[in-house]
Amino acid sequence: MDQEILRENDTEQKKRLVNEMQIVFESKSENEGFARTAVASFIMPLDPTIDDLADIKTAISEAVTNCVIHGYEMRPGKIFLDAAIWDRTLVLSITDEGRGIADIAKAMEPMYTTKPELERSGMGFSFMEAFMDAVEVESAPGRGTRVIMQKAIR
Ligand code: ATP
Ligand code: MG
Repeated sequence: MDQEILRENDTEQKKRLVNEMQIVFESKSENEGFARTAVASFIMPLDPTIDDLADIKTAISEAVTNCVIHGYEMRPGKIFLDAAIWDRTLVLSITDEGRGIADIAKAMEPMYTTKPELERSGMGFSFMEAFMDAVEVESAPGRGTRVIMQKAIR
C-alpha cells in the first residue's frame, strides 16, 4: 500500500478535516451514476483535473457495482457512501451489509471473480488500486463489506 489511509481517530493525523458527507442509497445499478456525480460535485472546491475526476468516478463505479452484484446479489439493500476531505486528500468509504467476502486477499487478486457466468472480469479491485492512492477492504461473511479508498488531489 503506497499510502496510509487517513482516519478520524488517528492521533498521528496532522491534516485538517475540510469537509465530509454521507449518503445512503438503494442497491441499484442506476445509483452508480448518482454516487459518481455526488462525489464529483463534493470535490469540486478542490478543482480536480479531468483525469482525477475520471479516476475517482471509475473507482466509485467499481465499488458500487460490487455492492449491487456481489454484496446484495441484485436483491434490495442499502449502500452507504461516506466521503471526507482532509486538506487536499479525498477519503471514500463504500459499504454494504450483504454477503461479505471470505478471503479478501484472494478477492483482490487481478482476474479473480466468483461470477464468471455474469462475464465479470475480476478486475474491479485492480482498477480501484490503480486509480486511487490507497485501497483497503474490510469484510466479514454474512455481515458485509467496506471499501475505503484514498486519493490526493494535487
Ligand atoms: P469485475 O469487477 O471485473 O466486473 P468482479 O466484480 O468479479 O469483476 P472484483 O471487483 O475485483 O471483480 O471483485 C473480485 C471478487 O471479490 C468478486 O468476484 C466477489 O467474489 C468479491 N467481492 C467484491 N466486492 C464484493 C462485495 N461488496 N461483497 C461481496 N463480495 C465482493
Ligand atoms: Mg467488480
